[in-house]
Amino acid sequence: MSWRDLMCGEPRPEHVGRVVTLAGWAARRRDHGGLVFVDLRDHTGITQLVVNPERSPAAAELAKEIRNEFVLRATGEVVSRSPETVNPRMPTGEIELQVNALEIVSRSTPLPFQLDEEGVDEVLRLRYRWLDLRTGRMQRNLRLSGVVVSAIRRQMEELGFVDLWTPNLTRATPEGARDFLVPVRLQPGTFFALPQSPQIFKQLLMIAGFDRYYQIATCFRDEDLRADRQFEFRQLDVEMAFSTREDVLRVLEQAVHASFVALGREPPVTPFPRLAWAEAMSRFGSDKPDLRFELEIQDATEITRGSEFGVFANAPCVRYLVAPKPFSRGELDRLEEMAKEWGAKGLAYLVVDESGEVRSPIAKFLSDAKLEAFGAPPGSTVLFGAGEPGAVARVLGFLRLHVGRELELIDESRDEFLWVIDFPLFEWDEENGRWTFSHHPFTGIAEGHEGLVETDPGAALSMAYDLVWNGWELGSGSIRIHRQDVQQRVFRALGLTEEEGNEKFGFLLEALRMGAPPHGGFAMGLDRFVALLAGEPNIREVTAFPKVSSGADPLTGAPAPVPEEQLRELGLRLADEPS
Ligand code: ASP
Repeated sequence: MSWRDLMCGEPRPEHVGRVVTLAGWAARRRDHGGLVFVDLRDHTGITQLVVNPERSPAAAELAKEIRNEFVLRATGEVVSRSPETVNPRMPTGEIELQVNALEIVSRSTPLPFQLDEEGVDEVLRLRYRWLDLRTGRMQRNLRLSGVVVSAIRRQMEELGFVDLWTPNLTRATPEGARDFLVPVRLQPGTFFALPQSPQIFKQLLMIAGFDRYYQIATCFRDEDLRADRQFEFRQLDVEMAFSTREDVLRVLEQAVHASFVALGREPPVTPFPRLAWAEAMSRFGSDKPDLRFELEIQDATEITRGSEFGVFANAPCVRYLVAPKPFSRGELDRLEEMAKEWGAKGLAYLVVDESGEVRSPIAKFLSDAKLEAFGAPPGSTVLFGAGEPGAVARVLGFLRLHVGRELELIDESRDEFLWVIDFPLFEWDEENGRWTFSHHPFTGIAEGHEGLVETDPGAALSMAYDLVWNGWELGSGSIRIHRQDVQQRVFRALGLTEEEGNEKFGFLLEALRMGAPPHGGFAMGLDRFVALLAGEPNIREVTAFPKVSSGADPLTGAPAPVPEEQLRELGLRLADEPS
């Protein structure tokens, strides 16, 4: 016995006259008083079953019981539909199956939502994910994810990379998030951390002589969940020994290229443009600029120097955007509100109306020559940011994106990949009043910048790079530190004492002392990449069983309390009754 001869999406006119067996889910049943029509579905498509009491009285009797999502098996003859019932929108629309025998293989309770329903609440979708995943959208997304992963694997292996597994129960790996901890029964009071990435292990593999490693690695980071963030996610994790930055970027470009080809899409042109971090920040106000629209930030520090407008005169940096619309008062008020949320004190502007007239409370402080220097054509608005360069970039970066979206300046048909390179090595951590790493503590120092680690940490550039696609950060990487003395200097600059450095990373420091080759790598967020390829707005739509933003899983009810006994075994006691 076989359950099925063809998939539900396969029957075609060439099968007419053949008796075949199909199996699948009842997507729809229509009772035409006598004849019953059932749309039988699997992931390949739908075939229309026709149950005729004259042909099979038993099948007709059973067909009355069919409800949506029952699992059916039907044997019958493939016949041509009469011309007026041909459905050109369905690949199987020229035929139907005249049923000889019908079997209800499995029944379904009434459904919490219909599969073709629009706008079903997401928590409900996730609670009944096994149903939700039957929809065309989710089948497409998860299958697309499978195609991409296998294309990447093929490409990496063709390039000589070896897939090596690294542990999930380990010590903390510093990627800037909180750790998930796992208590250990055999040693009460001790904890494993789930890896935020396989960073240290992949570096050890380089020292161990596996000069081309890759892994589709699961990473765990305890961070607030967002459109592009889940507690656990997959990344294409790569490390290469004796490699330059260009070698690493090239490999990732090949992986991206292979993914597009596997999906039958026009691949983006390689090499992707490279943009220095400082330039990205000044021109686009972002380290992950969306290059599908222009609207570049420009500098007005010189033009406004000595201005009578106090805000400009005293600002270390004045920059601006020219939005191609003369905004109304109301619109400007709303923009100002937003600018304030992003840290601005206010929003200075110049509206140039269609006749070229300038409307602005600050116009009186600026001479005609200065006004002209902004190059704002009639029908536009100049939006200013004034203050510290970092804060100005942040505000104008947000405004640029907001205006780009609102005024529909983004060309959705474009795919803009780019590499952002030359990131700073350190960032100032306001909260703790010290330097922290901008990528991770193992990131190499830009050539010639090593001396700055002690003398001017804020000015030191690193050998880190990010891959950006249409304004989404797809991943980051770097050429690493491969000398123990340099690694220790960086630890010191990060405020780690020698003891702390040894305590946390002694095994890495030791390995770096035993013949560590130069190496570098990258990690690309697979779920983000797949979401963008699928045209989905968030990674939950390409993840089979994601968590909602509170961190809970509506399907299994995890996370959940555990029995006292289990805690005791682990040497744990809850401090407070959870509320
Ligand atoms: N381990 C880093 C991350 O997961 C990426 C890398 O440097 O390879 O973000």
